[in-house]
Amino acid sequence: MSIFRLAIPSPLRRLFDYLPPEGTDLSNIKPGIRVTAPFGRRDVIGILVEVTDQSEFAHNKLKRAKSILDTEPPLPQHLFKLARWAASYYQHPEGDALQQAIPTLLRKGAPCEHQHEILWRAAPDASIAQLKSNASRQIELLNLLLEHPQGISTDAIRAEGGHTSALSTLEEKELAESFHREHKQNNQQILHEAPLALNAEQQSCLHEINSRKGFACILLEGVTGSGKTEVYLQAIEKALKEGKQALVLVPEIGLTPQTVSRFKQRFSVPIVALHSNLTDRQRLDAWLQAREGIARIIIGTRSAIFTPLQTPGIIIIDEEHDPSFKQQDGFRYSARDLAVLRARHENTPIILGSATPSLESLHNAVEGKYHWLKLTQRAGNSSPPEFKLLDIRQENLNDGLSEQLISAIRSHLEGGTQVLLFLNRRGFSPTLTCHDCGWIADCNRCDAHMTLHQSPPHLHCHHCDKQSGIPQRCPECNSDQLQPVGVGTERSEQALQKLFPDFPVIRVDRDSTQRKHSMQEIMQQVNTGNPCILVGTQMLAKGHHFPKVTLVAIINADSGLFSADFRGMERTAQLILQVAGRAGRADHPGKVMMQTYHSDHPTLQTLVNHGYSAFAQEELHNRKIAQLPPFTHYALLRAETSIKGRAESFLGALRQQLEDDMLLPHGVHWIGPFPSPMEKRAGMHRAQLMIYAQDRRSLHQLLANLCWYLEQNKEARKVRWSIDVDPADTF
Ligand code: ADP
Ligand code: ZN
Ligand code: ZN
Repeated sequence: MSIFRLAIPSPLRRLFDYLPPEGTDLSNIKPGIRVTAPFGRRDVIGILVEVTDQSEFAHNKLKRAKSILDTEPPLPQHLFKLARWAASYYQHPEGDALQQAIPTLLRKGAPCEHQHEILWRAAPDASIAQLKSNASRQIELLNLLLEHPQGISTDAIRAEGGHTSALSTLEEKELAESFHREHKQNNQQILHEAPLALNAEQQSCLHEINSRKGFACILLEGVTGSGKTEVYLQAIEKALKEGKQALVLVPEIGLTPQTVSRFKQRFSVPIVALHSNLTDRQRLDAWLQAREGIARIIIGTRSAIFTPLQTPGIIIIDEEHDPSFKQQDGFRYSARDLAVLRARHENTPIILGSATPSLESLHNAVEGKYHWLKLTQRAGNSSPPEFKLLDIRQENLNDGLSEQLISAIRSHLEGGTQVLLFLNRRGFSPTLTCHDCGWIADCNRCDAHMTLHQSPPHLHCHHCDKQSGIPQRCPECNSDQLQPVGVGTERSEQALQKLFPDFPVIRVDRDSTQRKHSMQEIMQQVNTGNPCILVGTQMLAKGHHFPKVTLVAIINADSGLFSADFRGMERTAQLILQVAGRAGRADHPGKVMMQTYHSDHPTLQTLVNHGYSAFAQEELHNRKIAQLPPFTHYALLRAETSIKGRAESFLGALRQQLEDDMLLPHGVHWIGPFPSPMEKRAGMHRAQLMIYAQDRRSLHQLLANLCWYLEQNKEARKVRWSIDVDPADTF
């Protein structure tokens, strides 16, 4: 008697047993295929994990699965295993994890095949002369077809203003024909342009990478502008020449189209970019092209880690320190960490690249688990930026800007170059207050202030998205003396426009770039090279090249120095250096000015005077003393409810229960429960329990027990709880 054990998308951490669909030929059934089955009152798509002959339930209690959707599993065995492993490591329900590893259309039951797109082209001997001169629509259309000998889709014809209604007429006259798009292996040429001649450092890195056989994890630590990307490109070139594919993960694609265009400029092989603007159909097609080996380079963000490759050759993780590689909700996996495992399974090299590597990766490099390669010089002939801390204690700030900074901005603009101002707050100002009674505009759903925005004018909570109008009078004392407090990007933009009316001020933040293509337009303006001021948030720090920027100003360098999160310092240092890296990239030497109230802070001093490596070494030392990651392994159990105090007492009781039952493995420790750093958020009261251990195995043993308790526990149904293994932040 055979039983199908299915992973079904549900919050339950278990598999479900079914009888195979009526008349199933079991000889050809492979784990990983999709199966539809009744679940509760509906039919769902599950993934077959195994065929077994045992069930804890009586046979006559088992329901029958309905149908089998695949002959071949969509994910190859090793990725199927990787996703299952990740579900167990990150304590996430397997059904949901497996679904997240495949494209949306497959989750919805679409066949695992390309959509055969129909294209049109002119018939071999077709010419305009064969049409009557007054058949203008047909002439127009035939001209369009003649311009596209490779074929053009009806959508594209419409987009070009052609009349698809005339297609059938042309076809009847044997002047046009339709055909299916074929995804042909383009195995002629690999390179589109010649690679750059590497400098000595790059050369030796590439040599190290290329001399590895099979799996090797390489940490490529290279200052911004040192030519890491060029090393990636040439390492990929080798893989392509061997007939293999490359998988490149980047933190963000939408905002940095340059990354993709650089790959397309270099290589003539088919490249797919898995970005968020793709339709589900386009995503599945790209995914299939990767699986079938048609696409040779696959560039994507976090979720692309599960993209199957037919001939895996190399994996690159660019900006490996970026927190976006860790999913922050639901299935909380780290794409970077899974990528290392994947490379091991596929027996290929993997490069983790960054100017500011995560302390985890550095620790692995120090321990010798990763090969540590360094690029210390900027490529080409640009020089590294010079740092300066501006002590702003007792300074009168002009909308957040010190006199020193303003005059520096002036001299750079007048010298004909560009200035970049970094501020990690969007909106006009972080809040609105009453000058007479001290009232502050707070969000009533969060422990947070409402941010004041001026374009368009409103108050906005950046934590729960609540929006409201701006009051004319104080709700407490009715005074009309309401004042903005603090500086956001909109306010900086306004102040700079007043200070420098002759120069364009360009704001770059989530609000100013919402429109499609707005980022491209901004980049076009910046690329003209004319003097201007860019003012913006993190968005400016990611991946863009601003060759004409000679001054980078960091308005508030202190923002993360005293964070409640132990990674606060690391993130601050990374952000500062990423922003600083925008300066002086080409032949213009750059300057970085950082306003601070703590110019004597030892960490800032180390960073500014001795660079990231020195900072990281110190920080690793501190982590070791405090027994924090990467020297211990962490997990966070978060809970939230609408009733104040309940999440905390729930976690406290759970901790007590596990201790009473002596289920705390040796070497595992708790901290808490404590209210979360932002206790109330979007109307929910939140608390967390931190769990840490020297060795992973005991930590995971406890987490497994914890999950079991939570799933049995009646109280647990009244709270929303989640487990975060290796959390990227502790909020
Ligand atoms: P990173 O990725 O480390 O920030 P990039 O690869 O973007 O650095 O390189 C920075 C700049 O230096 C780019 O404009 C790139 O074209 C140039 N560059 C890189 N390698 C070389 C080289 N060997 N010779 C000349 N220019 C180079
Ligand atoms: Zn008031
Ligand atoms: Zn809120």
